[in-house]
Amino acid sequence: MTGITIKGLTKTFGKGVTAIDGADLETPQGSFLSLLGPSGCGKSTVLRILAGLDTPTAGEIRVNGETPDELRKGHHLGIAFQDSALLPWRSVAANIRLPLEVAGLKPEPGVIDDLIKLVGLEGFEKARPAELSGGMRQRVSIARALVVKPSVLLLDEPFGALDDMTRQRLNLELLRIWTEKPATTLMVTHGIGEAVFLSDMVAVMSPRPGRVLELVPIDLPRPRTPDMMRTPEFHALHDHLSDLLFGQR
Ligand code: ADP
Ligand code: MG
Repeated sequence: MTGITIKGLTKTFGKGVTAIDGADLETPQGSFLSLLGPSGCGKSTVLRILAGLDTPTAGEIRVNGETPDELRKGHHLGIAFQDSALLPWRSVAANIRLPLEVAGLKPEPGVIDDLIKLVGLEGFEKARPAELSGGMRQRVSIARALVVKPSVLLLDEPFGALDDMTRQRLNLELLRIWTEKPATTLMVTHGIGEAVFLSDMVAVMSPRPGRVLELVPIDLPRPRTPDMMRTPEFHALHDHLSDLLFGQR
């Protein structure tokens, strides 16, 4: 079954700015796709359209056979952005619970505790966001994205604002979390290494107006381990993606 289908996706803002111009791609259900591309090429716009937060000017979009509207109404979507966007007056647990409250659903017993454990925040259930580091806040935002048990996970540079070491550690965590709770995933990133390390496929976009230049399959075996980043296969994929991005300038 197909995961993400994007056909002829075009988005023009107002009268003038064409952000995306005929983007196409298709991924299998349950796969991890990363979207790479220069700044301003429409990556976040693609993600926002998939999330039903914006509408396309033209084109067709389905994830796991559903339209963005159906995904949103069925609460099948988990979303996390670069800015964790936590509510400062709510505790960690209450922030994670929020999407369920908005959907009018009750958490099943133990679900919030399990998520807190999954993202490694035991002991911080009652903490407020201001008491957490940036990396911890992003962990909360990932847990919040997972609370509806999404079949589709959309991540927009989730660790983009963090220092390199924290980012690498959280990428390992994300890999573990995604393996435990698989979902059809799209992650926007500008990290070539993390895209290769995490993904089943990487879509490289052209500069604005964005199109998909190439959908590169990442045929490294799973489970992935950090030592794979030193293999010739990893470097070949990394070089190929760099060439696609660099060749644009
Ligand atoms: P990326 O995430 O790849 O950096 P974006 O999807 O955020 O790029 O933006 C793509 C282009 O569309 C940019 O030129 C941006 O200025 C423009 N754009 C994005 N959102 C809006 C908006 N709401 N109104 C007008 N222009 C927008
Ligand atoms: Mg963006």
